[in-house]
Amino acid sequence: MNKTIIIKIGTSSITKDCEQGINLEILESLAKTSAKILKNNYKVAIVSSGAMGLGLAKIGAKNLEEKLGINPCKSNLTSYKQALTSIGQVELMKEYQRVFAKENIQVGQVLVSHSGIKDEQHNSTIRETLEKMFALNILPIINANDTVSSKQIVSGDNDSLAARISILLEAEKLFLLTDVDGLYTKDPNKHKDAKLIEKIESFDKELLNLAGDSSSNVGTGGMRSKINAAAVCQQKGIRVEILDARHAINLDKIVFDEDHSMKSTSIVPN
Ligand code: GLU
Repeated sequence: MNKTIIIKIGTSSITKDCEQGINLEILESLAKTSAKILKNNYKVAIVSSGAMGLGLAKIGAKNLEEKLGINPCKSNLTSYKQALTSIGQVELMKEYQRVFAKENIQVGQVLVSHSGIKDEQHNSTIRETLEKMFALNILPIINANDTVSSKQIVSGDNDSLAARISILLEAEKLFLLTDVDGLYTKDPNKHKDAKLIEKIESFDKELLNLAGDSSSNVGTGGMRSKINAAAVCQQKGIRVEILDARHAINLDKIVFDEDHSMKSTSIVPN
């Protein structure tokens, strides 16, 4: 098995809120756990969201409200999203570079276009570049090339990007880090009897419906795109773990099968 681990982290985990910027605690955990995984001759790549969130934090909500006359924390800022990522992506990489350097990890930025990753020829170029980065001990930090993308930024896009990268690199495992424990039978914020689905061996109709129906989703975790990403990976023999990013410090323990007491949804290959 190819010893490659892909970690995808969402905006709600990598940033604090729309005004405070990076979530340092989580970023430091990611750096520490990556260092441990890398020491065991694994390759690690991170698919990181947060460019838009950090762009907003950098420009300042108040400043934007004065300029645009809208509350950016409440509005979806559709036409400004791509412009905000132009400064947010720089901030994101600055933080990754600074924090990962403390663990002696060199990071490199990889911005991928939505159309590019679907194109066979382009795919092999991306794979080759990533393999060369691994050979040079550079940890790839991957995001969509939002600034010039012809497609508007949609939350959840990076779940499918992470799945594609995992397949491209024939990864052993994909971690989808989010702000909930995993996939629930019902929205746990609304239903006390909601149960965490700990293991998924096959995607029956009921499960797909659960992921397909946004009202029964776990709200903030954006489960629909995660389940779609997991289903694609499962078919290719890649194990997917959906778990709360607050467990990021323990990812190495899951990789090495040392401890799996953290709550999660594990999607096992069939
Ligand atoms: N690429 C977007 C960003 O960095 C996030 C897209 C997503 O959440 O899937 O802000």
